[in-house]
Amino acid sequence: MNWRTQLRRTLQLQLVDRRISALTLERRQLMTDERTQALQRAIRTDQQQLEQTVAEWERLLRHQRVLELEHKGKLQERDRSVQRLYGGSMHNARDLDGLQKNIAGTEARIGELETEILETMERRDVLSEQRSKLEDSLARNRAALDQRSKEVQRRLGEVDGQLPSLQVDREERARQVDVTVLREYERMRGGLDGVVVAKVSESSCGLCGVELSAMVLNTLRHGEDLVRCEHCGRLLLDEP
Ligand SMILES: [Zn+2]
Repeated sequence: MNWRTQLRRTLQLQLVDRRISALTLERRQLMTDERTQALQRAIRTDQQQLEQTVAEWERLLRHQRVLELEHKGKLQERDRSVQRLYGGSMHNARDLDGLQKNIAGTEARIGELETEILETMERRDVLSEQRSKLEDSLARNRAALDQRSKEVQRRLGEVDGQLPSLQVDREERARQVDVTVLREYERMRGGLDGVVVAKVSESSCGLCGVELSAMVLNTLRHGEDLVRCEHCGRLLLDEP
């Protein structure tokens, strides 16, 4: 048997197998694409924050309506009291004094309510700003996810288009390799990262770089047997 020819064919098979392995790995990565997952997580976070922001904004609006209602009531109460005070119907000094205190208390509450209404409006403004930022972020992330999904689908299409013909090519090449060599190749390739055949390069193993012994080089030259690298165990192909 011409080992050199066999190893050359095995090397061709190895090239196709490595291409298949790379594409299969890429396919698996595309199916669980990290970028897609990161964007999906970002979108979920945006949505949750947006919901919370909107809910808080609405809660504050309801609170503001309650304050405004009380404010309106207090204004009317004050106006009524002022009318009574200057209406000329009250003559008792103690009653007048009581009424004046009452008016002062109502006005203090009106002041408090106005401050609280203003603060509530300011907090709603801040939330509105947050909301529009979150909406922008959500729109950006959704667009990016859409774009990424298209890229993944396009690439998956390419990979799926290439794999079947590579498989056919692989089977054809495997048929051309001697059974003994093929069996050895299949047995070894799992543990050697798919690289079983190594070319000899300047008296060294082309893969691991170890310098080959005179005995190994001699056996290779005569081409009488399969020869392995003494260091990494790969099958050596000596191209004259
Ligand atoms: Zn080696």
